[in-house]
Amino acid sequence: MHFLDDFYYDNKIKDMVLISDDIVNHIAKNDIESLVEETSYLNEVCVRIESHGSTITGSNGNSVCALSNLNDQQVNKIAEQTLASGGRHLFQDYRLAYPFDNKDLFIFGQTIRYDGQMILVMVSTTVEPLNATIRTIQSQYLVIATILIIVTIMLALLISKMVIKPINHLSLEAEKLPQGKYNNPDIKINSKELIELNNTLTKANEEINKADKARKELLANVSHDLRTPLTMIVGYGEMMRDIEGENNEENINVIINEAKRLSSLVDDLLDVSRLESNQVKMHLEEVSLNEFLSDVYDQYLRYCQSLDIEFKLELANDAVVKMDKKYMSQVLYNFINNALNYNNSEHKIIKLISEEVGDRYKVTVYDNGQGIKKEDLNKIWDRYYKVDKEHFRFHLGSGIGLSLAKKLLELHNFEFGVESEYGEYSCFYFYIDKE
Ligand code: ADP
Repeated sequence: MHFLDDFYYDNKIKDMVLISDDIVNHIAKNDIESLVEETSYLNEVCVRIESHGSTITGSNGNSVCALSNLNDQQVNKIAEQTLASGGRHLFQDYRLAYPFDNKDLFIFGQTIRYDGQMILVMVSTTVEPLNATIRTIQSQYLVIATILIIVTIMLALLISKMVIKPINHLSLEAEKLPQGKYNNPDIKINSKELIELNNTLTKANEEINKADKARKELLANVSHDLRTPLTMIVGYGEMMRDIEGENNEENINVIINEAKRLSSLVDDLLDVSRLESNQVKMHLEEVSLNEFLSDVYDQYLRYCQSLDIEFKLELANDAVVKMDKKYMSQVLYNFINNALNYNNSEHKIIKLISEEVGDRYKVTVYDNGQGIKKEDLNKIWDRYYKVDKEHFRFHLGSGIGLSLAKKLLELHNFEFGVESEYGEYSCFYFYIDKE
């Protein structure tokens, strides 16, 4: 604190001495009055110049100028003491009457001889006692600090209520996530991020429940789908062994067909597991689209003819496109198999169509079958989803085909979809970019 006091006082004194010297240097000049006015105004000091009992100039009219309050006797005393000190003297403990009595007053006196006369230059400045200022600042600081501490505590409580409490609730609930039992915490959540976190956890919970349901359905479906052909194979086998005359071609064909169905089901399951563990590598190659579609068409043509189904191929101009031929055939086989399976109209029509749409090709498999209800349209791409759950042995599907097709189309980045009118038709399509 002393250091501050000394520093502050030293600077004030240095300023006064410099001002006094400056005035003394200009004493001979005409504009001494305006110099006095200007310096006292700019430096907040008070100046008074005396010569033989009369004032030459001073910071007149300045009510805070302590020097203008000095009487002749006081001025004489200052002059005497200054002379006695060799022409320069600093008065540090000069006491004045009100209104200056509660401030420290410094007066710097300087005497010079000019034009045969003795001239006394006085420069004074009042200094605010620094301790008092510091005390004021300290008490203000105390008040500010107290307010700040209170505000901080309130903020901490508020943040804890708004953020920490909901986080605790969320994390408690999140522990139940592995069992799929996450519940929306029964508290108000204000923060946007926490609302998002809660939404994400709720969604994760739904997905876990969905996956769990799918797993159970898979077990039920797979065991059902495996058991039925196996029962048929065993049953027909035993019948052929035990009953005379049953060892015929027809029965052997039943066994072969059932075994084929088993093998295709196992293939589907293997494909799904490979796709889901991202073990599938695509082999993209440049393919003539019309050649590719014609090959797929040829595969089915005879079969359709044998069942009296009208199968049409409608092709646009040929183009070279990039795809994995094996996987895209799988997609089309699935679409066509479904078009065959879900078609109980009297005159069955299936079309394989390619069209040029802007800078893409649209490939569609159309059938005039039973169609799909609007509410089922999105769900049919899910694994093991069958619209007709009850009679799922009526057709041969395992509910895996479209989910496989979806994954393969996504791997190719091909936009795809389905359009259908229940009882009228279904169109399964995808788009291929032109090369
Ligand atoms: P599935 O092996 O049961 O055919 P998919 O994944 O291929 O399994 O198809 C899922 C479901 O979508 C089918 O069970 C069927 O209800 C419906 N579906 C698919 N294609 C057609 C279609 N062309 N017409 C009517 N329904 C269809």
